[in-house]
Amino acid sequence: MAEKSFKYIILGGGVSAGYAAKEFANQGVKPGELAVISKEAVAPYERPALSKGYLFPEGAARLPGFHCCVGSGGEKLLPESYKQKGIELILSTEIVKADLAAKTLVSAAGDVFKYETLIIATGSTVLRLTDFGVKGADSTNILYLREIDDADKVVEAIKAKKGGKAVVVGGGYIGLELSSALRINDFDVTMVFPEPWCMPRLFTADIAAFYETYYTNKGVKIIKGTVASGFTAHPNGEVNEVQLKDGRSLEADIVIVGVGAKPLTSLFKGQVEEDKGGIKTDAFFKTSVPDVYAVGDVATFPLKMYGDMRRVEHVDHSRKSAEQAVKAIKAAEGGGTVEEYDYLPFFYSRSFDLSWQFYGDNVGDSVLFGDSNPSNPKPRFGAYWIQDGKVVGAFMEGGCGDENKALAKVAKARPVAESLDELAKQGISFAAKI
Ligand code: FAD
Repeated sequence: MAEKSFKYIILGGGVSAGYAAKEFANQGVKPGELAVISKEAVAPYERPALSKGYLFPEGAARLPGFHCCVGSGGEKLLPESYKQKGIELILSTEIVKADLAAKTLVSAAGDVFKYETLIIATGSTVLRLTDFGVKGADSTNILYLREIDDADKVVEAIKAKKGGKAVVVGGGYIGLELSSALRINDFDVTMVFPEPWCMPRLFTADIAAFYETYYTNKGVKIIKGTVASGFTAHPNGEVNEVQLKDGRSLEADIVIVGVGAKPLTSLFKGQVEEDKGGIKTDAFFKTSVPDVYAVGDVATFPLKMYGDMRRVEHVDHSRKSAEQAVKAIKAAEGGGTVEEYDYLPFFYSRSFDLSWQFYGDNVGDSVLFGDSNPSNPKPRFGAYWIQDGKVVGAFMEGGCGDENKALAKVAKARPVAESLDELAKQGISFAAKI
């Protein structure tokens, strides 16, 4: 069993880890000072690709094409780039014990890693139907998607069951992206979710109506208001039927489950202050424990513009929080400081020929603008959210680069809105004037 010491350890090998490593490299680290420890077998990559280009039937995205940090237009950190930059990349290594007081991490193999400064970047893990005791949920070909190993299983199942029947459990963005990917791969796809419309955490009923009709037109069947309550399998263990709580049942060769995720904080339970299910940090991603930072999905941080503590499970924040933490660490070493994190929430998704972006907060009243006819070949529409007379959130499907920039600007500026009718009439030109 080995013992190794580093000045800095980034625990996790996902999006935040990649962007933190890049920022350390920008700021300058000496060889052997920094280690990235990941249970994944590959260097950090842009996770959103897994539910999009990775599943294309042709021209699929594959590593090394989407290693960090290509997602934000930066330099790609290939596995060998870490070495060149003096960063030790310790892969296929799961940390099973963390002692923040002793500043040590212990791997499943018993190796001990000591650090002076730790960045926790462990991200989230999927919620599994087996966790809820759903009967038959351990059958083969009931799949989840978080890491590249999961995506490889989906790709294998797509190949093995070509043209078969797929049931997608969950109506969030993973459910929507996976339904699209399976349909593009010629599967007969049924989506099942309990809510009255898809993506209810963000979409209004009006926005969701567009996507549901668009998906239906593409041949995806949508069953709402019920859940998967059990599965039956062939004698070989492969799933063959999904039972729904409303009494119906669906044949299935593949089931993909996207019912949510939870932040991976259990290693640190009782050792660090938590808030809203995540590790509580300040505006520099410093936790309650000296020399320990938390970034990305696991961090509950002050969202300055809303005067609120939030946890954000989106890729843009995972990149920016990682960069902020490293800048803060390096500035503090020189006796300086950096500006507080002042984040504008941003989230996007892509499926079929669709692409949307959202900025800000989806609270208050909402109004739709533009052409949301799902039969149009190039739908372009959006929505604003208005709270206390101000525009606080902006969404657009099919926006071009300048329009998406305008969405960000309006959500940041939070201008007064005269009336919902006026906003609906002006549409994207309202944001473009900000
Ligand atoms: P992660 O990227 O999940 O990385 C966590 C890393 O820590 C992993 O490598 C994991 O193996 C490792 N780890 C965890 N525990 C341990 C341990 N004990 N020991 C060692 N290593 C450990 N967001 C968007 O805004 N738009 C999108 O379109 C979008 N698409 C997505 C598609 C998919 C399929 C998924 C899963 C997520 C998507 N997201 C999207 C969300 C976004 O990818 C996450 O918010 C982001 O990856 C979070 O970064 P992170 O570094 O905090 O966590």
